[in-house]
Amino acid sequence: MPSSKTAVSKSHFYLEKEERYGAHNYHPLPVVLTKGEGVFVWDVEGQRYFDFLSGYSAINQGHCHPKIIQALIEQASKITLTSRAFHSDLLGEYAEFITRYFGYDKVLPMNTGVEAVETALKLARRWGYEVKGVHKNKAKIIVCENNFHGRTINVISFSSDPDSKKNFGPFNTGYELIPYNDITALETALQDKDVVAFLVEPIQGEAGVVVPDDGYLAKAAALCKAANVLLLADEIQTGLARTGKMLACDYENIRPDILILGKALSGGTMPVSAVLADDEIMLTIKPGDHGSTYGGNPLACKIAIASLQVLKEEGMAENAYTQGIYLREQLNALEHENISLVRGKGLLNAIVIKHEDKNAAWDICIRLKECGLLAKPTHGDKIRFAPPLIITQDQVTECVSIIKHSLESF
Ligand code: PLP
Repeated sequence: MPSSKTAVSKSHFYLEKEERYGAHNYHPLPVVLTKGEGVFVWDVEGQRYFDFLSGYSAINQGHCHPKIIQALIEQASKITLTSRAFHSDLLGEYAEFITRYFGYDKVLPMNTGVEAVETALKLARRWGYEVKGVHKNKAKIIVCENNFHGRTINVISFSSDPDSKKNFGPFNTGYELIPYNDITALETALQDKDVVAFLVEPIQGEAGVVVPDDGYLAKAAALCKAANVLLLADEIQTGLARTGKMLACDYENIRPDILILGKALSGGTMPVSAVLADDEIMLTIKPGDHGSTYGGNPLACKIAIASLQVLKEEGMAENAYTQGIYLREQLNALEHENISLVRGKGLLNAIVIKHEDKNAAWDICIRLKECGLLAKPTHGDKIRFAPPLIITQDQVTECVSIIKHSLESF
């Protein structure tokens, strides 16, 4: 690191190194972070920012939550990985903890979110062939337009976003795309007897925090049940208190047949994901059929228990609920000509930017950064506002004045 250089060249040093040696598969804001604590992050020049992205909702508990970091340090000095060739003294404890926490018979631990999605899809197909009785290789899974479930070839096979698919084919089959938030389309698609599952995000996060109509999920759950089709809820981004309830599905009192979790399951410390289901589904996978070297490792188990504990101990769902309402009220009260819409639930929110310049959302994020708040545009004209769930009302007030000031000076 260049010790005697000016503040600007310090950031440039890191930006250039990343550009030169790292793949160009992201387009980050030009800020180089070096420290995080609670709702704040600091860059290499010592500038402090409110984090309004929270690692795409992986840092619900706040940066470097002391109890999660303590669990990490304690376990890291004991044993970190056994592989599933052997048992560990933590996997059973974690499995008991998380299954009781969410009310399922079993958990299948994985690492990244997309791995958990793949696991859920495999389980659904297995269940389709072995329990429902669908003919070999005929299983179909219904998915929604504008979905985002990750980046593997299989998962992008059913994406409707041309950018994520371009020149990555050939793609996998067995998926049917229907419009999101369209119960009639689901009803029609469910008439096909080969359908084994409906995979859905309770709120479409990456699409720009698209909130379906009240009752959509409950109706979808009832239709799936009637058609003997599994409901797979991808709560990787919406779950773990982000939307103001422990799960976004809780708003409609529905219990998905397969629950998919990731991101904040480790409070932003390492990739930890999980798939929860009951025995009829989970036990269709037998030893050797599926797995991952790191899935369920003792370090992840210890961290996940701590991450789930602090969510409840510190009332993070309740705080997200209250601060979310306050944030949306305050943003709406701005009545700013460049904000055409404010939407969201809990602390998963987005504003839709109205401006003739299609780069306006990016430029506003640069202004926000200059004023001390980090947020990222999604799908061109939307900016997601998703701070850690420990944010206080005074901090939300301060953030809204930063947003106001940034928009005014834009
Ligand atoms: N599913 C949803 C709803 C997501 O928001 C994401 C990531 O943003 C994923 C799956 C993929 O998770 P990961 O990036 O950990 O693979």
